[in-house]
Amino acid sequence: MPLRDYICADPARSCPHCLKGFEALEHAGATPLLTCSRCGAPLVRQISAPRVPPAKGSFTDRAKRAGFHQFKRKDQGTYERQF
Ligand SMILES: [Zn+2]
Repeated sequence: MPLRDYICADPARSCPHCLKGFEALEHAGATPLLTCSRCGAPLVRQISAPRVPPAKGSFTDRAKRAGFHQFKRKDQGTYERQF
């Protein structure tokens, strides 16, 4: 279930709950909230950043697993393969 962020559309008609904005857990196809459940003020949905799980392992480990190679510069124009 995605988390959706809401904030009051009109700060003059809001309560402390919707003035700061809040998160609501909703089913994927659920109708978005239109009014604040505490004060009835109209709400607008905010675009929130997607929650991306943290990467497992270092950048080098992930590059290795994905089949990339790493080279280290030895001299001008010559590189030594690290993996
Ligand atoms: Zn409110």
